[in-house]
Amino acid sequence: MEETPTRPLPDTRGAGKQYWASGQTGKLSLPKCQACGKAHWYPRLYCPHCSADKFEWITCSGKGVIHTFTVVRQSGHKYFKTKVPYVLAMVALEEGPLLMTNIIDCDIDTVAIDAPVTVVFDTLGDNVSVPLFKLVAGGK
Ligand SMILES: [Zn+2]
Repeated sequence: MEETPTRPLPDTRGAGKQYWASGQTGKLSLPKCQACGKAHWYPRLYCPHCSADKFEWITCSGKGVIHTFTVVRQSGHKYFKTKVPYVLAMVALEEGPLLMTNIIDCDIDTVAIDAPVTVVFDTLGDNVSVPLFKLVAGGK
């Protein structure tokens, strides 16, 4: 009997450790550079804007707009094959950074650039909650 495929899990160690830990509490957090004051995604050891290495973690509003997106209709991956068609998007967060994610629980034909979205978390286990986004009802 074939096992139900599961979503591949991210690496929760290193620079992203706090990002993933925050998701476990239902909060979207990002590193904000103490030198230039800009937030960024994904978490990394050096600021992508100025190369500094000191950050504070900010809790985001969880709100943003769709910067761009595509509809995935085929996948060679055993888990994602069960999810097609699905929306892969770059969301522009209120705090500035673009975050790659999925837009879920929607009619894919209603997804549009600049549509407002809000974060929800998909808990995948004891250590990982993945930030996904839903369209804001009545948005645009
Ligand atoms: Zn910086």
